[in-house]
Amino acid sequence: MAGQTDMKLIKNGVRLDGRKPDELREVKIVAGVLDNADGSCYLEWGNNKVYAGVFGPMECHPRHKQKADRAIVQARYTMAPFSVNDRKRPGYDRRSTEISYIASQAFERVVMVEEFPKASIRVDMQVVEAHAGTRCAAITAASVALADAGIPMRDMIPACASGKVNDVVVLDLNKEEDNYGQADLPLAIIPSTGEVVLLQLDGHLTPDEFEQAMDLATSGCMDLYEKMRNALDNRYGGSA
Ligand code: UDP
Repeated sequence: MAGQTDMKLIKNGVRLDGRKPDELREVKIVAGVLDNADGSCYLEWGNNKVYAGVFGPMECHPRHKQKADRAIVQARYTMAPFSVNDRKRPGYDRRSTEISYIASQAFERVVMVEEFPKASIRVDMQVVEAHAGTRCAAITAASVALADAGIPMRDMIPACASGKVNDVVVLDLNKEEDNYGQADLPLAIIPSTGEVVLLQLDGHLTPDEFEQAMDLATSGCMDLYEKMRNALDNRYGGSA
């Protein structure tokens, strides 16, 4: 929501990229793409491209971070310098620290951390091309990578944003909508229980719009969930 403008982002019910308000961008998910990680995933979502790699469970370092009765999930979200128009300074910034933290918290809700005292499960999410919605793309990819690594989980976590542009509630904001829209609401859920494990809101929504945005993002998550399961079926021949 860098700056709201009068820019026409929806004309006659059609968005600039040709989608209807309730349509997702195209999503492609491939599990098991990296030889050197215990589990991995590559995900394309519109023009977003993300890799996720999982390592562990392993002994948690530094030791002062260990939990005597459970594992911790150490998620790390980073954007490559070439992932955006203006070269991005490599390394951690406030935004990537925030996204890493909320992703760790979300994964600790589904990973059976109680089975691995004092351990760490490392989840690395690398965005190689960014066109809005990368936190959702990264969390979705990392969920598939966790499953690919065989980490015991209660469920996977799909993540999807909805928002508001030109006073219309829409699913899955693209770059222009993210830049010039009125609201952005990333959501991640546990599909089997409906629990919300991540919810953020940038911008303003009325209570009615908020309900609509939650419904749209939830349906987006359920669509993604099916694609995530298909990706694992493709890798494991339907036994996942
Ligand atoms: N972005 C950028 N440089 C940055 C951070 C973000 O160009 O340092 C762009 C990138 O395309 C990203 C979009 O702004 O996808 C929206 O960023 P936001 O913080 O809303 O997170 P996202 O929607 O990617 O989860």
